[in-house]
Amino acid sequence: MRGFFTQIAAGFALALTGIAPTVSAQDAEGGWSLAIHGGAGTIARENMSAEEDAAYRASLQAALDAGAKMLAEGGEALDAVEAVILLLEDDPRFNAGRGAVFTWEGGHELDASIMDGRDRDAGAVAGVTTVRHPISLARKVMTDSPHVMLAGKGAETFAAEHDLELVPADWFSTDFRREALERMKARELSALDVDAKFGTVGAVALDRNGNLAAGTSTGGMTGKRWNRIGDAPVIGAGTYADNRSCAVSATGWGEYFIRVGVAHEICSRLRGQRAMSENARSTVNMPETIADFLFDGERAVQRTADDVLAEVKNLGGDGGVILVTPEGHALFSFNTSGMYRGRATSEGVNEVAIYGDE
Ligand code: ASP
Repeated sequence: MRGFFTQIAAGFALALTGIAPTVSAQDAEGGWSLAIHGGAGTIARENMSAEEDAAYRASLQAALDAGAKMLAEGGEALDAVEAVILLLEDDPRFNAGRGAVFTWEGGHELDASIMDGRDRDAGAVAGVTTVRHPISLARKVMTDSPHVMLAGKGAETFAAEHDLELVPADWFSTDFRREALERMKARELSALDVDAKFGTVGAVALDRNGNLAAGTSTGGMTGKRWNRIGDAPVIGAGTYADNRSCAVSATGWGEYFIRVGVAHEICSRLRGQRAMSENARSTVNMPETIADFLFDGERAVQRTADDVLAEVKNLGGDGGVILVTPEGHALFSFNTSGMYRGRATSEGVNEVAIYGDE
């Protein structure tokens, strides 16, 4: 409670400084927003060559532009999310689809999930080994099965029955990821030591009809064993979308994201804040600026995401999230030194970034 009143006081202070309220993309005639990521982690300028830096940016920009074009033309959030992830799954730079990390046994087990903010319909797959696009399989689970999550051999059978493209298991293999496994085994390192950055991919979108969607796809963590499954296919941990609050996709040390229920936790807090905002505006005539600052303006949303990521950090985990809101905010929050990321909105934002200081 004390925190609440401190925030109110801060809100009044802000109002006095005359800082303008955040412009709402959606209010401004069916705006759209998109945020994407290609993993968070120890990503530092000094460890990246100019060529690598440029190649990552080009990959992110191509995926961002593909999704942004669809949304600008009136496409659906779900389609844009899938389109972005399809490109990133095929891109060997990222730990999803082609370029996925190796399991302890030297294979690949892919996880993905997708969620529709309209009705919270969702689909997820875990531990698939021959499906070229796990994100499309997750979507098929959502649309063509009575289930939310399928795993292993059953998920492969479902994929074959629904004509998903299958590839040989080594289609996903890259030298770079194989070396990471070998280094791990030779020096008894942990996945975190060899991966340094996570590399999962994800996208969240708001379309012109005000619908939200989120999707995430990953190879998991290097050297994983015993059919370990991370947060990416767990609805509420790595992925969540609800038109009433936000769409979130996460990357990071999956066990912590599951324990905190990161994606759902952020959306659920934001839903509460939106309700408080509506209440404050209608019942006590709270000025827009203050309601924005306290509850659902960009800074309030950022604070909420940062608070949840701080919980991950306090437990010992790291990583990041991307999110979009019904108002069109497209934000990132991460507690690592960098995150491959990008965002675009109908208000003219279009940017990709890698390091924490940009
Ligand atoms: N979150 C993923 C996992 O734990 C890893 C990643 O973000 O790259 O499986």
